[in-house]
Amino acid sequence: MEARREYGRGEYRLKGRPWWEKVFDLLYPASCPGCNWGGEYGFCASCLAEIEPWALELGPDCKVYGAGIYRHPLRQALHLVKNKGQTYLVYALAALMARALPKKYWTEEPIFCLPIPPTPSRRRRRGFHLPELLAKELVRQLPRSSYGSQILKLEHPLAEQKNLSAHERFLNVQGAYRSAPVPGAWVLLVDDVMTTGATLQAAIESLYEAGARRVEAVVAAISPYLQESDLPNYPLPTPSLRFS
Ligand SMILES: [Zn+2]
Repeated sequence: MEARREYGRGEYRLKGRPWWEKVFDLLYPASCPGCNWGGEYGFCASCLAEIEPWALELGPDCKVYGAGIYRHPLRQALHLVKNKGQTYLVYALAALMARALPKKYWTEEPIFCLPIPPTPSRRRRRGFHLPELLAKELVRQLPRSSYGSQILKLEHPLAEQKNLSAHERFLNVQGAYRSAPVPGAWVLLVDDVMTTGATLQAAIESLYEAGARRVEAVVAAISPYLQESDLPNYPLPTPSLRFS
């Protein structure tokens, strides 16, 4: 896998947490989601040292940034959020995602943070949609960003992706998303786990079709089994190609 490490801001900062959560911590001291130890809010120092941010090219001038690889301790944290409903960990995950982003996300023009839309069955099962929670939290951490709800929509129901091959996933999500017009926008797509990149690819294409100028993505974790051959083998449309 051709991946380049990019530290961006290089900080893991739990900035701006609301005061009621801090009070909650005093009553119920938090433990590290990786090792159940620590007492610190979020990840302890030794688990944190195991999480390395990554960036992958999805197309020309289009990268996906990842807080880390889907393995200990990120895997445990995601399991606790998704299957045990410990959504307070979203804050720590979003801080790690923000750490993976390059400096331009703090210094350049406004950004739309858009979650990958949920499939109806998944939202019913969990009662929440993790990419939405992560995107809202990222908006609190990125000063130039705003949350874009109702922009990206799922056009048709998707088959369960879990048991599909990389190629079948691409076919499954092709044309699955439709975006409201976003002329000239800079969009940061947010998802929890990137397995093959098929979902992100389909969403990115729909955003370019809707007039976005730049689309990148950030995920909490990238699958350790992702092969270069799984990544899109045709270039993503660039705004200059499509909107010249
Ligand atoms: Zn730990």
